Amino acid sequence: MAVDTAVVWFRRDLRIHDNEALLEAADAEEVLPVYAFDPREYGEREFGGEHSFRYEKTGGIRTRFRRESVADLRERLRERDSDLVVRHETPERVVPAVAAAVDADAVHFGTLPTPEEVSVENAVRTRLRGIDVTPSRHWTHTLYHLNDLPTPYTDISDTYTGFRKSVENRATVRDPLPEPDLPTAPVGEVGAGSVPTPTDLGVDEVEYDDRAALRFEGGETAGTERLDRYLFEEDRLREYKETRNGLLGQGFSSKLSPWLNEGCLSPRYVNAEVDRYERERVSNESTYWLVFELIWRDFFQFQFAKHGGDFFGRGGIRRRDDIDWREDDAQFGRWTAGETGIPFVDAAMRELNETGYQSNRARQNAASFLANDLRIDWRMGAAYFETQLVDHDPASNYGNWAYIAGVGNDSRDRAFNVVKQAEKYDADGEYVTHWIPALSDLPPTKVHAPWTLSEQEQAEYDVQVGIDYPEPMVDLE
Ligand SMILES: Cc1cc2nc3c(=O)[nH]c(=O)nc-3n(C[C@H](O)[C@H](O)[C@H](O)COP(=O)(O)OP(=O)(O)OC[C@H]3O[C@@H](n4cnc5c(N)ncnc54)[C@H](O)[C@@H]3O)c2cc1C
Repeated sequence: MAVDTAVVWFRRDLRIHDNEALLEAADAEEVLPVYAFDPREYGEREFGGEHSFRYEKTGGIRTRFRRESVADLRERLRERDSDLVVRHETPERVVPAVAAAVDADAVHFGTLPTPEEVSVENAVRTRLRGIDVTPSRHWTHTLYHLNDLPTPYTDISDTYTGFRKSVENRATVRDPLPEPDLPTAPVGEVGAGSVPTPTDLGVDEVEYDDRAALRFEGGETAGTERLDRYLFEEDRLREYKETRNGLLGQGFSSKLSPWLNEGCLSPRYVNAEVDRYERERVSNESTYWLVFELIWRDFFQFQFAKHGGDFFGRGGIRRRDDIDWREDDAQFGRWTAGETGIPFVDAAMRELNETGYQSNRARQNAASFLANDLRIDWRMGAAYFETQLVDHDPASNYGNWAYIAGVGNDSRDRAFNVVKQAEKYDADGEYVTHWIPALSDLPPTKVHAPWTLSEQEQAEYDVQVGIDYPEPMVDLE
């Protein structure tokens, strides 16, 4: 009798735990896991739509994280006597070719709600049907399962509070699924292939920066270690709500976002570990708040399922046409380089450029400055974040940007007073001086507004505004 064979196409679910696609595939007699580095995800491209600016879709830092994640997945699969086929080619070529080579009956994979991911999935499914292989999709990346929402996703509330209350009151988070026992992988029939280098992918190789909040190393192994460290080893969750607006260091927030977004960690597994922490350590507002933030993540995922490509329009899902968005390459260049002359914004952008990470507070201010103070098309900022962020996710990134730019899921004015924010959240100026050493000698009362220094003060603090550090590019008064 013919052997029953399944292929698992890994996408942004690079893990063995709580992975429905892998678990269901494991019922077959042979299972072949596959990952495709899609060339369209790397290198420069046009933003598209009515906008012609170009940007790099995946920069060096996220590329490194992803390569490490794929390598870790392969190692974990090999430890379980399985393997991972790796290719550098579009999924719609790789997946059907591999499925045909091993005579697979089915291909299992995680489905995603964002437009590009949907179109890749559709291309793969069409080709699989053409060769008589059954595509089997699974919802693997949110806290609440799509099928457990109290209403069809097309009817969910467009406000976070409405959405959160509806799921908290009328849905339950499922337990994480068990790890499967994996049957043999018929890898010999196709060849395992190697993880492409950054050069193969057309991306600059980058080193880790010692000033980073955390060394973000890709993979399920590092992701589960990070979760354990934050919750149990360092016992930080008990004070998360008070510390989460921090700016410096690894411990003020969970730093789980890169692992969640490449799927090295499942949000249901994080939730189960929070439950365990609540049983074994403490249950308080902080422990709840981490889940509250994971629901924000879900909110944007389901919002994209509902509104799709409308999120990428200049006027957003609210189709606002009353804002005069500008394009100004010189000003945009100063913002990306961290040379605006506003220290809080510049520190945030320098941190992003060097490490791929920014705290939520830093992101809000950097984004608000571009969108609300400079009024430069917010999508250019979002595209820049897409290149640089180690934890980029299309729904979280464009959803948050649209929110701050006033074209997303909130009709209130979301403009931040960046100097006031700096004085509140970086009262001692430590964050700003960490990233802008030229301002190191300034006292906390002056560090967030160096343009107010007199000639005499500039001499005293060893900084010449306009020479050592730029003049502000706009008058924030
Ligand atoms: C302009 C802008 C762009 C952003 N782009 C992204 C992005 O591309 N990817 C991304 O994961 N987050 C994004 N965020 C949300 C948030 O800033 C990060 O999730 C958070 O800073 C990651 O650090 P952490 O894991 O320590 O977060 P924690 O404070 O520990 O939160 C725990 C988890 O909750 C989720 N979360 C928290 N806040 C948000 C939020 N506002 N929206 C969605 N999920 C949230 C994340 O998965 C995060 O890992 C963006 C925010 C802004 C303002």
